Amino acid sequence: MSRLVVVSNRVPLPDKAGNPPAGGLAVALHAALRERGGIWMGWSGKSTGEDEPGPLSIRENGAIQYALTDLTDRDVAEYYNGFANRVLWPICHSRIDLTEYARREMAGYFRVNRLFADRLVPLLRPDDVIWVHDYHLIPLAEELRRRGVRNRIGFFLHIPWPPADIFFSVPVYEAILRGLCAYDVVGFQTDYDVENFAGCLRREGVGEPLGGGRFRAFGRSFVAGDFPIGMETAEFAAIAAKSPDDRRIREMARSLGGRDLLIGVDRLDYSKGIPQRIEAYERFLRSAPEYMGKVIYLQVTPASRSEVPEYASMQETVASEAGRLNGALGTVDWVPMRYINRSIRRPVLAGLYRLAKVGLVTPLRDGMNLVAKEFVAAQDPEDPGVLVLSRFAGAARELDSALLINPHDAEGTAKAIQRALSMPLDERRERWDHMMKRLLSHDVVQWCADFMAHLEPPTHRFLPEP
Ligand code: UDP
Repeated sequence: MSRLVVVSNRVPLPDKAGNPPAGGLAVALHAALRERGGIWMGWSGKSTGEDEPGPLSIRENGAIQYALTDLTDRDVAEYYNGFANRVLWPICHSRIDLTEYARREMAGYFRVNRLFADRLVPLLRPDDVIWVHDYHLIPLAEELRRRGVRNRIGFFLHIPWPPADIFFSVPVYEAILRGLCAYDVVGFQTDYDVENFAGCLRREGVGEPLGGGRFRAFGRSFVAGDFPIGMETAEFAAIAAKSPDDRRIREMARSLGGRDLLIGVDRLDYSKGIPQRIEAYERFLRSAPEYMGKVIYLQVTPASRSEVPEYASMQETVASEAGRLNGALGTVDWVPMRYINRSIRRPVLAGLYRLAKVGLVTPLRDGMNLVAKEFVAAQDPEDPGVLVLSRFAGAARELDSALLINPHDAEGTAKAIQRALSMPLDERRERWDHMMKRLLSHDVVQWCADFMAHLEPPTHRFLPEP
């Protein structure tokens, strides 16, 4: 079996005992790396001021090598906070209005991709299989090919791929599109993303589908398809099932005083639709006042990317909306919404999901949204809660037994909240069973195996006998 080389912007390093950090993707990729041996390369998260970064730092952990590169302050500003997070992220989430394009930052993005390629090439063996992750590193395969690398190289995009008209608003869209077509396998989260990608090739007149998931573009052929990412379903469900023993969960349950809990868990990001969700919750309470004092909405929102201005202003918007709602509808003995602006560890989250009657996952656009899947996996099979899910989350393609909503329609979302809170047990069970079956049969280990099966070099069994 050939070695696996994973490349991503950041590397989830294991703890001192060699255990990978919590989270499905890190666990599944570590398992694949442990089985085959290999390398995980990425940015160390450190910047070196003005100085050029020193050599790669290599750490060994059994069969896995971690290869980490520092970046300069300028690299971080241009590649990460600049082009990746102020152009590609908003564009892929269909927010042209939030895009801030600067040639200097675009040049920094390609420069860091060249740096990654220069540093990776000396570590590679001819039969290594390379798997690159996410929008920070789209041009990496092309840079590796320029340096003579002939290995199989796959790419997985964790975020959505936008419709052609939106993508074409990036001034260097052609270089990005050509970069994607330099891979052997390009994985997207949903069939809609694949359609959008195919639409870009067609509209630009640079490529065409060959059938069976194969495409020809820019003079080469490759596979592009949907590989919806899964979670560690059974493990997460087991953690959630034990959570009633956890002191923090017991205290939380006591603090509810018999009220029903609604929960939202999102990084602070404009794509998550948090202000729209607060508005829908307020509409629900105003239109169904019998629920006043009987429900509590907990919103867990760790800050993210605070160096990007749009995120800093989002922080103010959400905090002020939460305060306004509580001021307008709260009473001396009840606050409608609890807002936490920090991260909560996954085992505690599992317990909170299980405690909740309703999961509110209402992004305006999301590649997948693992919180939606985690909420379902954490439920008590005897008395499951209800997922209210945006149809614009990738997860909605699989979790079609959730109450699907349009997050731009506050009234519709308010109605769905009321329906979720009053749904009979039989219907809740039926919907949950359906979704849980899907999550168990398409977990993250299966996802990893499926992508790898497409990426592995074709074997000799397809060749005629000598
Ligand atoms: N998460 C967490 N603690 C928090 C908030 C989120 O561990 O306080 C985790 C959550 O369990 C999920 C991930 O962060 O696994 C978020 O993934 P998702 O796909 O929902 O959104 P993203 O942040 O990748 O856009």
